[in-house]
Amino acid sequence: MSDGLPPGDDESLVHDLTFSNYRHETFLLPLPVYREAMEGLESIADRLEAAKDQVEEGEAVSMVREIYRIVDRVGKSVESHMSCRASCAACCRMMVGVTRGEGEILRERFAREPTGPVKEAWSKGLAERTRALFSLSGSADPDRFLSTLEEMLATCEDYEKLSVYCPFLGADRLCQIYEDRPLMCRICWTLTDPRDCDPGEGPPVKFRNAVFFRAFELVIALGKAGFGDPRHRPIPLWLTGE
Ligand code: SF4
Ligand code: SF4
Repeated sequence: MSDGLPPGDDESLVHDLTFSNYRHETFLLPLPVYREAMEGLESIADRLEAAKDQVEEGEAVSMVREIYRIVDRVGKSVESHMSCRASCAACCRMMVGVTRGEGEILRERFAREPTGPVKEAWSKGLAERTRALFSLSGSADPDRFLSTLEEMLATCEDYEKLSVYCPFLGADRLCQIYEDRPLMCRICWTLTDPRDCDPGEGPPVKFRNAVFFRAFELVIALGKAGFGDPRHRPIPLWLTGE
């Protein structure tokens, strides 16, 4: 590779972009895809910096969506090597952490859904999951319940043991809000046998790379820049007003 990298960086970059899955396939995240994604993310970071980390709410949401498109392209470029398939949804019973701009996207999606059985099931499921979350013991500050990544990590194992699926998972085991699903759902790619994702198995090995980490940092930054809100909360809490 000789596309502008300083000499000596090629080897570590290739290492960072190389992955193996449980089928013993080794694959490389395509360098042009990686570069385009990182440039896209850095352009968002530059815009944030130029705006002194303060943007309109709508702009913050639009930047979050831009990040979604970037990570989706990365995932698409290597999806044939991943274990994840449609209807393979054991992961949808995990506690999915969502930042404020993403919470707004979920609220918009909920509001857009016409009144009817689907929306009713969502409302019921969201209320039940919120109660389940509150039933978990922990040291969370009751005034800011499950509002930080640390608090969520401390309680996610207990939540997983409840084995309740995300309210947006349909009876066909497909995500009903696929186009609007949060970042964590977009980067939750697994390299190990899908059976490792079943309760009590695993932990599954995830496909993680610099693009995903940067995207993660930026959605958090956008929660602060667009809404002055640093919270990182499970999906239901954004939708039940808790
Ligand atoms: S993370 Fe695991 S359960 Fe979820 S889609 Fe991928 S392989 Fe299936
Ligand atoms: S939003 Fe969709 S992909 Fe994410 S946990 Fe819920 S059902 Fe699964």
